[in-house]
Amino acid sequence: MKIAILALQGAFAEHQIVLENLGAETFLIRNREDWNLEKHALVIPGGESTAMTRIMRDLNLWEPIRSAIAEGLPVFGTCAGLIMLDDKHLGTMDITAQRNAYGRQLGSFYTEDSFEGIGMVPMTFIRAPFIERVGKEVEVLSTVAGRVVAARQKKQLVCAFHPELTPSDTRIHEYFLTLVQG
Ligand code: GLN
Repeated sequence: MKIAILALQGAFAEHQIVLENLGAETFLIRNREDWNLEKHALVIPGGESTAMTRIMRDLNLWEPIRSAIAEGLPVFGTCAGLIMLDDKHLGTMDITAQRNAYGRQLGSFYTEDSFEGIGMVPMTFIRAPFIERVGKEVEVLSTVAGRVVAARQKKQLVCAFHPELTPSDTRIHEYFLTLVQG
């Protein structure tokens, strides 16, 4: 199984370590040519969604990535990666994200909360969004203090937090690999 990791900016290396440790083959997408390589799934990491949007457009990656996901390529978006899939960005997932949703004081925090089908998981939030609207096709997987922080629509999985930053717990990445294989 070959997993492409969008590596234009942000926390892509951490995803690569976790996925390789789980036995997946990974490679980084840094330009339009990299995107032509065979892949079974895509990871869009955390970072800065405005910067990621600009670089994806500049490198002509926006439309090929959007259409591949729309046609069924499994994708895992964390934090800024969640924002990239919402209806104001790539629009492949029927969700609306609210950026920097926890205010300055709570810009970054750690908690543990339940995740559907997994149980309690560690959650590192860094200037994170939450999901303020979910469409009918979207399954909510986790809420923290009443706010949706993880969801799935078919083979699109998003987390507002960063499971790749707590690499001793790989269950959410395993969940994604199961989705990719299923
Ligand atoms: N605040 C960032 C944004 O709006 C997301 C932060 C992150 O990915 N850790 O894009």
